[in-house]
Amino acid sequence: MSQEITRFKESKDQLFQPVKFEEPRGVFVSTYGCQMNVNDSDRMISLLEMLNYTPVQQPKDAALIIINSCSVREKPVHKVHSEVGRYRKLKLTKPDLLVGVAGCVAQQEKDQLLKDLPAIDFVLGPDNIDSLPEIVSKLHKAPEERLSAARFKHQEAYHVQTLVQNPGVSTFVNITKGCDNFCTFCVVPYTRGRERSRPYKQLVEDINKLTSRGVKEVTLLGQNVNSYTSDCGVNFANLLKGLCEDTDIKRIRYSTSHPKDFTEELIKISADYRDKICEFIHLPVQSGNTEILAKMNRGYSREDYLEKVDKIFDYLPGASLSTDIIVGFPGETEQQFNDTLSLIDRVPYESIYAFKYSPRPFTKAAKWEDHLSEEEKSDRLHRLFEKHKIIAHKLCEKYDDQEFEVLVEKRDEDRGNWSGRTTHNKVVNFVGGENLVGKFVKVKILKAFPLTLRGEFVSEY
Ligand code: SF4
Repeated sequence: MSQEITRFKESKDQLFQPVKFEEPRGVFVSTYGCQMNVNDSDRMISLLEMLNYTPVQQPKDAALIIINSCSVREKPVHKVHSEVGRYRKLKLTKPDLLVGVAGCVAQQEKDQLLKDLPAIDFVLGPDNIDSLPEIVSKLHKAPEERLSAARFKHQEAYHVQTLVQNPGVSTFVNITKGCDNFCTFCVVPYTRGRERSRPYKQLVEDINKLTSRGVKEVTLLGQNVNSYTSDCGVNFANLLKGLCEDTDIKRIRYSTSHPKDFTEELIKISADYRDKICEFIHLPVQSGNTEILAKMNRGYSREDYLEKVDKIFDYLPGASLSTDIIVGFPGETEQQFNDTLSLIDRVPYESIYAFKYSPRPFTKAAKWEDHLSEEEKSDRLHRLFEKHKIIAHKLCEKYDDQEFEVLVEKRDEDRGNWSGRTTHNKVVNFVGGENLVGKFVKVKILKAFPLTLRGEFVSEY
């Protein structure tokens, strides 16, 4: 196996000759991290279908394996190393197997990953996904090559419609790429580059194409969707309004929001168009203490955040909220952590995603003393989850015996029930009715749990 690493250069369109395998070949994609990565994996699979690859559930059935990595949480490089270790053994029995690492770890480590892990054939940064068919074609023609494709591109537009082969009932649509915020704990601006917004007209066209293919719900994706600014000056609030008015989409979700850019105009438009814009807001707070928020470079105080939450409930009293929290940030005292605990008493979060702080490469906070032991951080995390468990159980009682509109996404044949989501992003599993996938139905809730609801079919809308 050659150790030589070649920097991948895209061919001009007319020079690129994709291979097209006569027999379908399996591709296995292992995805870590956020919805952006889930969407990127879908895009990779759709692109590879051009070459006659088809997704498989087991690495052993694959001719191509891609690890779509995430570097936001702990030990990401370690995870890639250990997964590649498993595929190295597989390669001994399948010498034609190609293995690639994509996502933020690929962008962060670039050639170093190829140097450290001889079993990898290519690395692929998030900006280089469109080149995947060409990379795989090249490697097929020259299997001794090892390709590094992790260059930021500043293309304005990247396509959605061509990259979603089987969009289903609900699908993701990227509206921005990258992030300019440089929160002191976060590696994303270094792995996904500066923020770029897709043109408004292109988004309208993409969503109209998706609706004509049966899509009922889209989730608009970006690291900070609220700072979307189109080529023609449309902000995020007006993007939502425009999509409600100019497309046939039935439901719109979005993720992730940044509290500093979450405006009253956006809340007001969400209320005006609540029949389409879902009443679910993921609003990552990260900490309930103003000094820690300043150290995180979040751009808002505890009071600013609470003001926005109050505003949301003024306009949308039925809204459902969730958040992200980091415990044990450098310098966080017990008192400052208590401010986070008191914040979750004050804000009715139906779910929280909380993590222990761990330093990420390139970030400012990584240079600061990580003063707490793992045990102390685990203790804070445990106390946070215990407190929230009680809150979440109490909050979900309001759903008992109520009827909700549910967009049915799938049928679970093993359990014999349908599954869909309410506007509040609650997963509802229910029985009754026939041929319901893709339909909006009324469901009566029989039992509410913090993350899911159980119910029975009432009627179709
Ligand atoms: S807003 Fe902050 S946490 Fe979110 S992606 Fe940007 S830098 Fe990271």
